[in-house]
Amino acid sequence: MILPSLPLIVLTDLDGTLLDHDNYDYRAAMPALACLRQFHIPCIFNSSKTFDEMLPLRESMNNHDPFVSENGGAVFIPKEGSAVFHSEMTGSSYNSILNVLQLLREQGFRFRGFHDMSDQEVADITGLKPEEATLARRRHASEPIIWEDDELRLSEFLSILSCHNLRMLKGGRFIHVMGSNDKSEAVTFFRDYYQTLWDQEIRVIALGDGDNDLAMLESADYPIVIPGKNNTLKPENPATRFAEKPGPAGWNDTLLALLNDLTKEVNRG
Ligand SMILES: [Mg+2]
Repeated sequence: MILPSLPLIVLTDLDGTLLDHDNYDYRAAMPALACLRQFHIPCIFNSSKTFDEMLPLRESMNNHDPFVSENGGAVFIPKEGSAVFHSEMTGSSYNSILNVLQLLREQGFRFRGFHDMSDQEVADITGLKPEEATLARRRHASEPIIWEDDELRLSEFLSILSCHNLRMLKGGRFIHVMGSNDKSEAVTFFRDYYQTLWDQEIRVIALGDGDNDLAMLESADYPIVIPGKNNTLKPENPATRFAEKPGPAGWNDTLLALLNDLTKEVNRG
C-alpha cells in the first residue's frame, strides 16, 4: 500500500460534475485527475448509476479506486490484483425493496418498475440504448418506478414505504424507491475506511452539482459545488468552494486550486 502525499480522499458525482452534462466528456478534468493519481489520492465515484453502468466508465477513465452506486446504496472496493469487488450495502437490498413494492401492489397501488419492464421498454422510456438499459436494470439498492395511480395516493404510498424504512426520491420521469441512504453515507464509510487503512486522520473533498449531492457536500470537509443546470447548491460549510465553470472544466480548475492551497498549507506547517 502506498500512502498519499496528502491525507485526502475525493468523492465525486459523475453526471454534470466530472462528466459533461450532455456528452459525458471528461477530458477537461484530466489535469486534476492526473494530479490525484500522482499524489495517490483516491477518486471515488459516487453516482446514482448502477454498478454495471459504472464499471465501463471507470475502465475508460482508468480509475481503479472504490466506488459507490445508486445514491449511496452500495459500496464497492476492488480486491487488489483481481477483477473482484468487495461490496457493502449501506442502503436496503434490492430484494427487500421489491418485496415491499409487491406488498404495495397487492394493496392496490398501481405503478411499474424497472423489474416489471423489459430492456426494450426501459430503453424506450429512458432514451438509453437497449444494451445500456440492460445495465441500468441490474440493480442493488433502488428501484425506479413510474407512477400509474392517482397523484393523491402518492402520499399514502410514501407513508407505507417509510413504515418499511424506505423512502422515495423524485427524479425526472421516475420515482426512485430506496433505503434511507443518501450520498453522504459514502463519505462516512470511506472516512472510516481510509482512516483505518492509512492509520491517520484524513480529510474529504466532495464535488457535486445536483440536489442529491447536497448531503454528500454537507458532510465533506471541503465541498466543491459545480454550477447545476437549473440552480446552484449552497452548502452551509464556510470552506465551500464554488466552481466558475460547469462540468469537468469547473471540476478541474477548482480541485487543482484546492490541492494547491492544501499543499502550501502542509509545506508551511
Ligand atoms: Mg449530477
